[in-house]
Amino acid sequence: MNRCGQIGVGLAALLVGVSAGVAQQGVAAKTAAAGAAETVYVPIPGFDTSSIDATADPCTDFYKFACGRFAANHPIPADQAGVDQFYALYNVNTQALNGILTKAAAGGAERSPDEQKIGDYYAACMNTDLIDKKGLEPVEPVLKEIDGLSDGMRGKAALPLLIGKLQRMGVNVFFGYGEQQDFKDATKQIAVVAQGGLGLPEKDYYLRTGAKDIEIRQQYEAHIAKMLTLAGEDAAKAKKEAAGILAFETALAKGSMGVTEMRDPEKIYHLEPTAKFEASIAPVNFGQFMEGIHSPKVAELNDMTPDFFPVLVREVKATDMETLKAYMRYNVLSSFSARLPKAFDDETFDFYDRKLNGQPEQEPRWKRCSNSVNSALGEALGKVYVAQYFAGDSKAKMLEMVGDIEAAMDKDIDSLEWMSAATKVRAKEKLHGVANKIGYPDKWRDYSSLEVKPDDAVGDKERADAFENDRQLNKIGKPVDHGEWGMTPPTVNAYYDPSMNDINFPAGILQPSFYDKSQDDAVNYGHIGAVIGHELTHGFDDEGKKFDAKGNLSDWWTPEDTKKFEAKTDCLVKEYGGFTAVHDAAGDVKVNGKLTLGENTADNGGLVLAYMAYLERARAEGVDLTAKKDGYTEPQRFYIAFAQNWCENARPEQVRNQVLVDPHSPDHFRANGAIVNQPGFAAAFACKKGAAMVPVDSCRVW
Ligand SMILES: [Zn+2]
Repeated sequence: MNRCGQIGVGLAALLVGVSAGVAQQGVAAKTAAAGAAETVYVPIPGFDTSSIDATADPCTDFYKFACGRFAANHPIPADQAGVDQFYALYNVNTQALNGILTKAAAGGAERSPDEQKIGDYYAACMNTDLIDKKGLEPVEPVLKEIDGLSDGMRGKAALPLLIGKLQRMGVNVFFGYGEQQDFKDATKQIAVVAQGGLGLPEKDYYLRTGAKDIEIRQQYEAHIAKMLTLAGEDAAKAKKEAAGILAFETALAKGSMGVTEMRDPEKIYHLEPTAKFEASIAPVNFGQFMEGIHSPKVAELNDMTPDFFPVLVREVKATDMETLKAYMRYNVLSSFSARLPKAFDDETFDFYDRKLNGQPEQEPRWKRCSNSVNSALGEALGKVYVAQYFAGDSKAKMLEMVGDIEAAMDKDIDSLEWMSAATKVRAKEKLHGVANKIGYPDKWRDYSSLEVKPDDAVGDKERADAFENDRQLNKIGKPVDHGEWGMTPPTVNAYYDPSMNDINFPAGILQPSFYDKSQDDAVNYGHIGAVIGHELTHGFDDEGKKFDAKGNLSDWWTPEDTKKFEAKTDCLVKEYGGFTAVHDAAGDVKVNGKLTLGENTADNGGLVLAYMAYLERARAEGVDLTAKKDGYTEPQRFYIAFAQNWCENARPEQVRNQVLVDPHSPDHFRANGAIVNQPGFAAAFACKKGAAMVPVDSCRVW
């Protein structure tokens, strides 16, 4: 499920959907055990010969060549929105987590405190009989509190405190509040307030006027009405309230910043005294909100999206209390739907996954519960996962590859013709300041103050969300912990954090197919090497370039160099903006070249760096580049492995949403989009200049 409302400040991840419920993918082998069909997920090998379509010409369409047989071999399972290598590994890892959790849930008295927590969290989530039996009783207190607000001005004056309480328990209503590193002084952790409160993925979902967009809004409105009805509301009243909620959210959407603009750090940084912010939203009592959400008192905050709050205040004033109460009630039901009786869970799935993403069936309960533990207690679960599934020598090999790729970037900077000597000095300073984090944190998070009960699915989530909320807000005003991770160890993803200036690779992605110990360097540099290069290049994409070695937003480029950089990135904006991602009855959707620019820059630069690093490593180790394995030379294996990172089989609904919301291009464009700009590619496959994959005008930033 893909809900909005969370504040996402500046983590440049490798792919869509970070922690909870990555809505994607897998390779399943059916085995019959004891009469029951059980799905066993197996990893895709690092070099996947079964996906190669040798009848395709690599110089004409490299994706078709490297991945041409993937879709036929990997039909999309009914419980997934698509299949790719990330999804395959996500399934393998989820299966591993489930094994750990099943054991921990069965546990008994010998369990460690962490085992008790992860086991009981899982057990409570799995106990659907008890969940059904309890009905709405676990959320009754908060629903009563909402209903208890008086109508009119007195009720509205009491809203801030309640909004704070709701947000603390993970119900993201009206706007967002959290903590971030100060963009302009990365040693400081500050409060941030931002737009939010929408149930559809992004503002334009409320505003576009195509037939498909109108249909989604009608389905969303019907979904809200259905949820309210399931909670006992009269159908006619629920229908009216749903219409009011959609109108309210549409007004908020109009006052919100778009996804492309949100990528510009200058546009989302407005540090100001809290008193000034409070004056701008008068007569709203922000102090009561802060009390509700358990925030420390703050003298200043980042008003991330300043145009939003006047609109929010105006709309709350103009909207009747009945609608606002229904809006909060709906959001409580929606946030806890997976832990409420089946009808709520099914209805939420039906809108967010089936209608919006085209996924026919709900993921099985064990997958969802395993991943909910990963979201709530990711480092307690991750500790066990790492001990069982992360081979000790993987870390050393990863560090060696990271070192090789950073050395390649050093050389790459030296060789840039367009960059001045002055900017090069600063670029290297930044490169040498990058911290490398591999696998898992040095110091594990302490969950001892979080209470988990085996028979309280709703309460467990409520307390876990409050625990995480408090942990985040407690950072305000304290020194930055550079050892902290923004992803849990089992996550199949990676990220660059511009304020930390670090690259992070969780143990979850350091597995086949991305890192395969049984494969040669060519394959691993093509797979995980390109991922490392991707994250490193994020430090130097259109967003990352604005932060310096210490993680501060400060312009270290000469104006002339920035101009040249922008001319180079414009080439990528045009290239990717030319790709048609969806071509169906509901209308063509093109890739947004500006929204995806940072990711595309990272893909292109990352591949250049990984190849440079590979060649250097192969030279040092005396590898014969012309020797063939599986029928391909080493350079060919490198590029095939890279492209296979992006083999996919996706449903059009999912691709449509991704293109509209996500800064990552759809998978298969990430293969060819980068290949056409690679200086080493033509030689590896003996392609002629002018072939589709070796265009005369290619793009090159890094
Ligand atoms: Zn990225």
